[in-house]
Amino acid sequence: MRAGIEGIDELLRDRLLIMVKDQSAIDVLPYIPARTGGLVLTGAAAPVRCREIRNTLPEAVVVMDHSSHTQQVATADAPFGLKTSYGWRDLDLAGLNEILDGQRDNKASYAVTPTCFIPADQAGDTSVLKAVVRQANLLRRQDTVVLLPCSWRWLRRSSLPHLTEQIRACRHPVGLIMQADGDPLDRAEAPEGLRQLCRSCPRLVLWRTDLAAFDAMAHGALGAAVGASAILRHGMAPRPDNGGGGHKPYPVVLVRRLLRYHRVATLQDWFAHIDPWACDCTVCKGAVLTRFTDRETDVVAALQHTVCELYGLHDELDGTLPGDERIGWWRQQLADAWDYHRLLASQTNTEVQFPRVLQAWRRPSPPAMPAAAERRSQDQSGPS
Ligand SMILES: [Zn+2]
Repeated sequence: MRAGIEGIDELLRDRLLIMVKDQSAIDVLPYIPARTGGLVLTGAAAPVRCREIRNTLPEAVVVMDHSSHTQQVATADAPFGLKTSYGWRDLDLAGLNEILDGQRDNKASYAVTPTCFIPADQAGDTSVLKAVVRQANLLRRQDTVVLLPCSWRWLRRSSLPHLTEQIRACRHPVGLIMQADGDPLDRAEAPEGLRQLCRSCPRLVLWRTDLAAFDAMAHGALGAAVGASAILRHGMAPRPDNGGGGHKPYPVVLVRRLLRYHRVATLQDWFAHIDPWACDCTVCKGAVLTRFTDRETDVVAALQHTVCELYGLHDELDGTLPGDERIGWWRQQLADAWDYHRLLASQTNTEVQFPRVLQAWRRPSPPAMPAAAERRSQDQSGPS
């Protein structure tokens, strides 16, 4: 048995991590605040990079994600596994412990389970999801976050009670990944479902996500990990070609006023005839957002700008009290974003669409799910 971390929840609480490929870690590291931030590393060199960073900066929070969910579908018999240099390896409890120990030996601040992808429940079959939690609950350690890489369909009203029940039954904090082709929160019932889940599960961290991190944390999520690139901002169903990449990088920036990521090419179109918006972050220092080219140094600078803006937003969230005050702050951000979309449309004389997910976030918040016992008594008509 391995010694736990004193209060893993305190290490996660209100912390915003940036999820980044091993080779980009050094680019963003200078912009990660030690008290409220940290890194999730992916890629083959994640263990080495993790050890290096933690040796240099022992107070930095750095963990790793083996991304098993992008490579293999979980089964009730083999919910955990790992791609190794010898091929795929299913993990039994001893194997799972060995991998988690390996992460800690490489100085990870806490361990993260290599959970395989959990598809939508077929006709109410929740056996795979239950198998993940059941096996994880056999781990005799308190230094681990259990990843649940789920299809977005688990957020629908019919499935949500099962997901809620399993997250509540887990003895460890849970890192939820939402998978979809495109933005999972563009799907019907998903934004509301996620809010309900965050309100219902106090040890939930939203993993591999985008600005949904802020909606989740406003609604009670313990913390979040935001992806540095588009493929790290939502879950991916396993495919043989996953992780190939090879696209020519192009600059994408977070436009904080719009609460949205945009390709710089889009901004250049918008601001062709009016003064482009400038940014006051540490990287931009008042320079305009349209300046980034396809050059590698600019793609890196665009990422650094985005990281700075994420932490700027997170600083504000962190300064609010959890509950109504935090939700009120988030609602104001969304109202401002709405105004900026309209301003931009009128100044540029173009259609600037207000994204569907931001519209969904402007709706009133749903209540928490009732606890299982309450739900059973509600299901029965009449007093028990
Ligand atoms: Zn900036």
